[in-house]
Amino acid sequence: MEGTGALFQLAENFERALSLIDPLVAEALERSLSGRDLDLRQAAELLRAEGRELRLLLHTADLVRRRLVGEVATYVVNRNINHTNLCIGSCRFCAFRRPPSHPEAYCLTPAQLEAKVREAVGRGATEICLQGGLHPELGLEDYLELVRVVKGVSPELHLHAFSPAELDHLSRREGMPVGEVVRALKEAGLDSVPGTAAEILSDRVRGILCPTKIGTGRWVEVVKTCHRMGIPTTSTMMYGTVETLEERAGHLLLLREIQRETGGFTEFVPLPVVPHRTELASLGIRPPSLEENLRLHAVARLVLAGYINHVQASWVKLGPEGARTMLLAGADDLGGTLFEENITREAGGRWGQGMEPHQLRSLILRAGRIPRQRDTLYRLLD
Ligand code: SF4
Repeated sequence: MEGTGALFQLAENFERALSLIDPLVAEALERSLSGRDLDLRQAAELLRAEGRELRLLLHTADLVRRRLVGEVATYVVNRNINHTNLCIGSCRFCAFRRPPSHPEAYCLTPAQLEAKVREAVGRGATEICLQGGLHPELGLEDYLELVRVVKGVSPELHLHAFSPAELDHLSRREGMPVGEVVRALKEAGLDSVPGTAAEILSDRVRGILCPTKIGTGRWVEVVKTCHRMGIPTTSTMMYGTVETLEERAGHLLLLREIQRETGGFTEFVPLPVVPHRTELASLGIRPPSLEENLRLHAVARLVLAGYINHVQASWVKLGPEGARTMLLAGADDLGGTLFEENITREAGGRWGQGMEPHQLRSLILRAGRIPRQRDTLYRLLD
C-alpha cells in the first residue's frame, strides 16, 4: 500500500492523468465534475479504484466537496445517551445488547437521564442523541417520558433520537402505524431521528447480519414517514462485512432516490464495521483498510453530490487521525463530541468515549480547513 501522503498527490496534470486510466473510471469522474449523477455500474467501478485511479478519485471528491460546501469543516457539541441496552434483537455485529434478565442489562430512570442531560448542558451541548435497544416492555408512553425529561431540562436542546428500528418496534408493540408514533413523539418534542439501523440496505446482507431487524423496505418506509412529517433524519451505512461493492453502491443510490423524493436527510455517515468483540470476528471479518475507507467516503461524496451535501467522517469508527484523513477525501464534518460513546467501545473500538471541541477543531485545522461549530441541522453557530 502507498503511504497516505502519496494518495493525495497527482504526479501529472489532472487531464493527462485521466487519459491514462480505464475509460469507464475516467468517464465516471468527468461526469461527477460536470454535476451529473453516477449510475450503479459507475459507482461500483469507482469503489474498486486503486493506484492512479484512486488518487484521481480522491482528488475529484475533494474538488466536488470544495465546490459544494467550501473550506469549512464542522462538528456538533452533543452528548450521546443510550437509554437502555436491553434488546431482543440478534444483530451479529452488536456487542452492546444484553438480553432481558442479564445482570448487565440496564434501563435509565428518568432521574438518571435528567442528570446526564443537565451535565451535557453544562458542557455546552446543543444536541442530545438518544438511542437504545429494542426493549420488550417499553411502550410509547415510556418513550414520551424520555422526550419530556430531555426537553424539561432545556427546551432549546435539539433532541436527535430513536433509530428507525426502535420506531418500528414501538409501532408494532403499540399496534399503531409508525406515522402515529412519530407524530406523538414530535408533539412531545422530538426534533430529528438518527438514520441508523441501515447497515447495508440489501435484504440479502440483512438476512445474514441482522435477520430479525427491520428489512430494507421497512427502513425506507420509516425514514420517509419521518421526512414527510417534518422530522429530518441522518443517513448511514455500516460497511466492511459480507456485502459486495455493488451492494454498497446500491445503498448509496437508494439514499439518493429517497432524498430526491423527500429532501429529509441532513447528512451521510459512512460507518466502517468494528468487528473485534462481535460474532463477526469469528467469521474472519476485519476492519476495512484505510484505502477502503477513503474510497467509500470519496464515492459517497460523488454519488450524493447535490442531494446530500454533508459527508461525516466518524472519529468513533476511524479514530481521530483516520477521520482527519477522510476530510481530504470528500468529507466535510467530524460529527459530535459525544461525551459518552458505548456501542463502538463495546465492540472493541479503541478511540475513547468522547472528544472535546478543541480536539475536533485541531483535527480540522490540521486538515487545512476552517473549523466551525454547527447545530444538528448544519446551521453554523460560532
Ligand atoms: S444493533 Fe440494536 S437492534 Fe441490533 S442487537 Fe444491537 S441493540 Fe439490538
